[in-house]
Amino acid sequence: MLGCLLGAVVGDALGVPVEFRSREQLSADPVTGVRGHGTYHQPPGTWSDDSSLLLATADSLIHNGYDPPDMMARFLTWLKGQAYTPHGEVFDVGIATRSAIARYANGAPPSEWGGRSERDNGNGSLMRIAPLALFTRALSPAEIVRCSMEVSGLTHAHPRSQLCCAYFSLLLPLLVLGWPLARAMSQASRHLAPFVPEEEREVLEEILDGSIVEAPASAIRGSGYVVHCLEASLWCAARHPSYEQAVLAAINLGEDTDTTASVTGALAGAMYGRAAIPEAWLRALASREYVETLCERLVERVYEESPRR
Ligand SMILES: [Mg+2]
Repeated sequence: MLGCLLGAVVGDALGVPVEFRSREQLSADPVTGVRGHGTYHQPPGTWSDDSSLLLATADSLIHNGYDPPDMMARFLTWLKGQAYTPHGEVFDVGIATRSAIARYANGAPPSEWGGRSERDNGNGSLMRIAPLALFTRALSPAEIVRCSMEVSGLTHAHPRSQLCCAYFSLLLPLLVLGWPLARAMSQASRHLAPFVPEEEREVLEEILDGSIVEAPASAIRGSGYVVHCLEASLWCAARHPSYEQAVLAAINLGEDTDTTASVTGALAGAMYGRAAIPEAWLRALASREYVETLCERLVERVYEESPRR
């Protein structure tokens, strides 16, 4: 579990310096390890909104258990630059997330926080769902789906984003248990199937039938669209034999490099464990001790919540 959480943060930090670079640019100058500066002029090891929101979610679960409005309160604290940042500064935030937090801050009811249009399907809820996936691991599949959809809906309330989060939450705990990825994917699909409405089936088809991992690299996109992000992460995790190679492949797809690498890092970290994360990458992480302590506390909390597994 620690590998999953730290794997996400480390992936984010590695992707930050080259966010928005194209695949062509990165194939000429591929990322092979920790870099600094670049897109946001941040020092090496700086993690972004992906990790901030993931850590805020983890902190909420540690202190309050399952309490989605408390998560939102913490997201607002982050957006104000008051917590969950590596250097006290917010340098990156998605449009849907910012809009949702603004609606919350302005006193809108919870049903109006998350964007519901088809355009509100960026990867901004998928990138922060891993802590919830671990926390809800012992619940029934239907409960896991319900919780993940609700927590996605804080910022991303369109069914497509919600279903991608639910799929991820069904999948991650199986990987932590050591299930092979292909088997875990088919189990997650089976459990998600009853909740997928007809109009979302086609767009999620290659994830649900598992065929995405067989796609050629040319068919995989590292964009900020939630379906691309989930597809790319599954593909990178399936096609590379280590945490290190999966995360670097995710970054070198280009576009939304930090988030693709963060989601891939959660998957590969769950599959290979904390020991598989290169020590040099962990050492470079900004506020490393803070990140590690928070992740360790969530893992302890998960064991308190569900000691059976
Ligand atoms: Mg980011």
